[in-house]
Amino acid sequence: MVAKGDTYLLIDCGFSAREIEKRLQKFDLIPSQLTAILVTHEHGDHINGVRVLAKKHQLPIWATAGTAGSLAEDVQDLVQTVQYHMPFTLGEQADEITVYPFPVPHDAREPSQFVFEDGEYRLGLLTDTGMITPVIEQALTACDALLLEANHDADMLAQSVYPDFLKQRVGGQYGHLNNKQAANLLEKIDTSQLQHLVIMHVSEKNNTASLAIDSCVEAIGCDQHFISIAAQNEGFDWRYLIRE
Ligand SMILES: [Zn+2]
Ligand SMILES: [Zn+2]
Repeated sequence: MVAKGDTYLLIDCGFSAREIEKRLQKFDLIPSQLTAILVTHEHGDHINGVRVLAKKHQLPIWATAGTAGSLAEDVQDLVQTVQYHMPFTLGEQADEITVYPFPVPHDAREPSQFVFEDGEYRLGLLTDTGMITPVIEQALTACDALLLEANHDADMLAQSVYPDFLKQRVGGQYGHLNNKQAANLLEKIDTSQLQHLVIMHVSEKNNTASLAIDSCVEAIGCDQHFISIAAQNEGFDWRYLIRE
């Protein structure tokens, strides 16, 4: 979730609507306070709870036409169409967040990732991409915070019990970023303003937290504790962007 003031943007909803309601409660929030649900792509781990949550609370769903085409008929009236490189602004004045959608190579219909800006800070989100493209580098440079996929360790994936087709899917150009690819991105972009780096979409079978963290530590030369992992079960607390 990305928030500013009373603007709350939920990005994807892979959990059931009930589970998300419970998790919102921990932050003293109710679903009707959500400004919108943004959907990156139609894979189950990103949309499972979207339909019920949006329908029950009449929340707008922002998604590309390709992604929206995979959503149920009965929520199509809630869909607002996202187009790559066409920014849109959500929330009331003073709490506005502008969203910049950009394309990623992933085996979905029209996957999009996002950069969020409030006029002062830039927060970048990148998950579910098989490789890094110039468009991705350009979008994510000079962010104040980054949520970045480091899905697997290439060696662990190669040796894992996954069947070959799945190894090829996950490790392929339309699959998921491995630790090294995530680190390479960090080396290429401007990370000098980075206040937070949260690693996400970490495979439970083909990666470990320390391998993922280590490769990013090496890439940006930061302290280990600077980087955190977004774990599915625990989630994580608010991170704040501040100017010193
Ligand atoms: Zn995913
Ligand atoms: Zn995916």
